[in-house]
Amino acid sequence: MMQPNYQQIECKSFLHKISRKFLPFSWGANPYRGCEHSCPYCFARYTHEYLGYNKDAEFDNKILVKMNAAEVLEKELSRKTWKGEPVSLGSVCDPYQPAEKKSEITRQVLKVFAKHRTPLFVCTKSNLILRDIDLLSEMAKTSNLMVNITLTTLDENICKKIEPRASSANERLDAIRQLSDAGITVGVLFMPIFPYLTDSVGSINQTIKAVRDAGARDLIPGILGLKSSCKDRVFSMIKKEYPILYSRYLTLYRKASAPKDYTGRVYRIIEIARKKYNIKKFEINEIKKSPTEKQMSFKIPKPKKPKRVDFGL
Ligand code: SF4
Repeated sequence: MMQPNYQQIECKSFLHKISRKFLPFSWGANPYRGCEHSCPYCFARYTHEYLGYNKDAEFDNKILVKMNAAEVLEKELSRKTWKGEPVSLGSVCDPYQPAEKKSEITRQVLKVFAKHRTPLFVCTKSNLILRDIDLLSEMAKTSNLMVNITLTTLDENICKKIEPRASSANERLDAIRQLSDAGITVGVLFMPIFPYLTDSVGSINQTIKAVRDAGARDLIPGILGLKSSCKDRVFSMIKKEYPILYSRYLTLYRKASAPKDYTGRVYRIIEIARKKYNIKKFEINEIKKSPTEKQMSFKIPKPKKPKRVDFGL
């Protein structure tokens, strides 16, 4: 794997508005631009074009690290106009991608969110999140916090092909277990389901049972969608790794979404498994509740502006 090129930058604003009623949050926050996890189906690649980079060649190896994120966030959350709305941490790029190990920007911004008791929705495919379990478990007592781990299959070989640099399926299951044991509400982003790879009754049942046993409270399912920004990438991965499925993918994805008869059938399988294993449907209003009045049992340390990081280049 090529060593990514990390650029340490100063951002002017950190929160960005998200105006979609079907989402449980109204703001997004991303400590990084670009993502090393390199999932072929990622449709956030186009965001690199806004920065003047190539979405295909540079999204996963030109990573922008927002060094002053915590400082800017503190100002944003202290404004009189801030209404304490829910925020998605990792709305575009994974906040626990490898750069976080050294830079700790996500940990710094978590402290700011904790101080302001911001309802928070954290999404990741990395077990690096366990490093922050101390902070997250305290936040779970005093504000609305939901951690979402993406997991769609227990097959490690498939995982490596569809999410090459993310944590293994086993590591993600373990993260779900440790986070829920620590009192944190954990949901599963059961998406994207890959047709003919992770959509069998057996695979769906096995994965939903495993995440339920690990302590996940609910799941949000989704079937692979192929917008133009990721279609070629997914098709070439399928052609290379699963050549036998290639023509079936071409037939299924004449448009960006698979046909309704296919998606309806898979969603029915998921729904039956969800009920069988007694795992909740995600409820949008849960994260929107106002913070509790409980006091934190430890003082949230003041975030410091991180010093420049030596990424070992
Ligand atoms: S982890 Fe998310 S942001 Fe990162 S490459 Fe995968 S889909 Fe894209």
